[in-house]
Amino acid sequence: PERKRRLPAWLKRPLPAAGMAFTDEVIRDLDLVTVCESAKCPNRTECWSHKTATLMIAGNVCTRPCGFCSVPKGKTEALQLDEPARVAEAAKRLGLEHVVLTSVTRDDLPDGGAAHWAACVVAVREACDEGVTIEVLTPDFRGNVRAIDAVIDSRPDVFNHNTETVPRLYHRVRRNADYQRTLDLLARVKRRAPDMPTKSGLMLGLGETREELLDTCADLRAVGCEMLTLGQYLQPTGQHLPVERYVPPEEFDEVGELMRGLGFGLVASGPFVRSSYHAGEMKDVLTAN
Ligand code: SF4
Ligand code: SF4
Repeated sequence: PERKRRLPAWLKRPLPAAGMAFTDEVIRDLDLVTVCESAKCPNRTECWSHKTATLMIAGNVCTRPCGFCSVPKGKTEALQLDEPARVAEAAKRLGLEHVVLTSVTRDDLPDGGAAHWAACVVAVREACDEGVTIEVLTPDFRGNVRAIDAVIDSRPDVFNHNTETVPRLYHRVRRNADYQRTLDLLARVKRRAPDMPTKSGLMLGLGETREELLDTCADLRAVGCEMLTLGQYLQPTGQHLPVERYVPPEEFDEVGELMRGLGFGLVASGPFVRSSYHAGEMKDVLTAN
């Protein structure tokens, strides 16, 4: 297919506002990593201007080679035992009402970093005011049930794990991951903590068909997934997978409607939607229903 390099008009973003420098200062001062930067998220200016960021724990080096993701790959770093405290401090200083945490995949660690994950959730919970909610956007922990359970038992308010794309494209987009393992993880959360909302997301524009997209989202519904994010895949650098198609905003609306018809409690569908984009608002809408 034709590979598009120039961005269409609907993919232009706003200029930075006052909060941006403050967010930047907090992140640097506490020596934290954000997925906003590591994944070159197009929403960084907007989110950081509103003092919102998604903190990435367990280092800035990933053990997986996903073709869409600009998080550095290679030799991992040792876990930093003071990271939970620094993450909690950042959440407090930024005044976050909804804290989204994510991590690289740590296939080099026996528990995939699950104990560290749980420590971060607990630290944020202890440091922040009552009413602050926590969303975890986790790797698949290689399907290690004990690891997954450790994160569930740290009692986040939303459990998010991304599907990323349709199963046919996994070998290219999400190598070393496994579609069934992703579904199993989401099913596990619902079994162990039925009241904990689960969330997943996919990128559009990687070559998936409408039918494949519908089938995948039906699979997510079948394991009880309640929240869905659909956004445009953007190539972070020339070394990453090309964009096969820029999906127009109207089509995102239309697909979003179809997905609501599948029974998701909440669907965010649009070119700039990312797992953590306006995550607090999503959670508020879901819990108000
Ligand atoms: Fe960061 Fe998420 Fe906002 Fe992107 S959408 S800038 S990853 S908080
Ligand atoms: Fe990026 Fe996650 Fe894939 Fe690692 S596992 S390369 S952080 S998407």
